[in-house]
Amino acid sequence: VTALKSHDSEKPANKTAAKRILIAGSGFGGTYALWQLMPLLKHGENIKVTMVSNENFFLFTPLLHMVAMGIIETRHISYPIRKLQNSQQFEFIQADVNNIDLAAKQLKTSAGSLSYDYLLLSLGSVTKMPDFEYSRAEGSNLFTLKSLVDAVYIRNHIINIFERASAEKDTAKQRQMLTFVVAGAGYTGIQLVTELRDFIFRSLTRFYKTIDPRKIRIIMVEIEDKIMSDSRPKLVNYITGCLEKMGVEVKNNSRITALKENRVIINNSEIIDTETVLWITGVVSNPCIAEIKAPTDDLGRVVVDEFLTVPGFKGVYAIGDCANFKDNRSGLPIPPRAHSTVRQAKVAAGNILADIRGVGKKPYRFSNPFDTVSLGTTKAAFRYNDFYLFGVLGRFVWLVGYLLLMKGSYNRVRIFADGFFSAIFGRDITNVKIKA
Ligand SMILES: Cc1cc2nc3c(=O)[nH]c(=O)nc-3n(C[C@H](O)[C@H](O)[C@H](O)COP(=O)(O)OP(=O)(O)OC[C@H]3O[C@@H](n4cnc5c(N)ncnc54)[C@H](O)[C@@H]3O)c2cc1C
Repeated sequence: VTALKSHDSEKPANKTAAKRILIAGSGFGGTYALWQLMPLLKHGENIKVTMVSNENFFLFTPLLHMVAMGIIETRHISYPIRKLQNSQQFEFIQADVNNIDLAAKQLKTSAGSLSYDYLLLSLGSVTKMPDFEYSRAEGSNLFTLKSLVDAVYIRNHIINIFERASAEKDTAKQRQMLTFVVAGAGYTGIQLVTELRDFIFRSLTRFYKTIDPRKIRIIMVEIEDKIMSDSRPKLVNYITGCLEKMGVEVKNNSRITALKENRVIINNSEIIDTETVLWITGVVSNPCIAEIKAPTDDLGRVVVDEFLTVPGFKGVYAIGDCANFKDNRSGLPIPPRAHSTVRQAKVAAGNILADIRGVGKKPYRFSNPFDTVSLGTTKAAFRYNDFYLFGVLGRFVWLVGYLLLMKGSYNRVRIFADGFFSAIFGRDITNVKIKA
């Protein structure tokens, strides 16, 4: 709070006051912008950078499914912001952003108000939840995968299911426990379902001898007529084949229409008894962004121009999952991806400095030459333009690509070591009881 007071006491009208850059969010957008920005500051330049986020770390979400499925240890895909940057010109505040007032140039947070001269909005997205009503009890089998805590819950839940199912005498009840439903066959859903399959069949079934593996069902429910509908056919065909070989039941053209206690209903007709529904059906913008007084789209993302600024609000930038940036070739908003967010972060950081220094800004140009999806422990699919790699080679490129994107040698070594040791000694199946 002391920091906040000194922050607010710097009046923007005073020419000698530091220019205040406020970064909201410590995810891919915020963290990469910070990485780009700080080394570009000139010695003695009168600029103060503040980052506000509800987590004090950067979370490497593309590997979250590996935490949920017991390969990587929880903290190894997170990086504390304070360790990342401790310059005198930088301040980190852990707080919830509750309201963004662009007209007053202020963010209301759980730690007080923060004013700015330049604002970078990188508050990300939240899971798009079911659009039908369900009670708390009915939704008790529903899990999302967006945060570290989500991953920990999923992992413990699955191990706990195996503990209970191994002692269950009622066959119908046991079948219900051993039926796993993944809703949404986009990138994240595919990565999760394949890793889940390997977790179960390569690790858990070895240790739970009373469970007949033939009773285990893994079902993937997809609303479109094929999995990963916005990807290239070659990739889709390969992944479809993999899912088939893995024994994952894919139900295309299917929508979960109701959640009941320990059951889901598909297309208003098919009933599936299950204690596990992993809800990976896409994202909508952070609610704080959806409420700002600037143009937003139907997913609540704030509309930005080619310089990533919010038109009509000088010095305000938005990037990543909370921004609607239209690809000028397709005319469509670009999809929420870590890679494009990283590139936007670099452009936005440069443009904020260009604004302050009175030089020309650079436009952001979207390009998407890569596609890469992990498919369980040993396989992945990788595309670079029209060049494809599948299987173990694809997995190698996938791993190298993500290790390079992950900052900090310490985390890279820990992630690599986790993968290596879990391949040799098996995944950890400790059942840590956590109260909701
Ligand atoms: C499980 C999973 C797997 C994924 N896999 C891939 C993949 O393989 N490849 C790929 O390209 N993309 C992947 N993505 C998408 C990718 O993670 C996002 O596109 C990317 O993180 C967007 O970056 P961002 O900065 O906009 O948001 P985020 O990285 O989500 O960062 C948002 C930040 O804002 C903070 N925040 C949120 N609300 C508040 C608040 N009210 N107050 C304060 N702080 C707040 C959060 O703590 C976080 O630090 C995956 C996403 C998930 C969830």
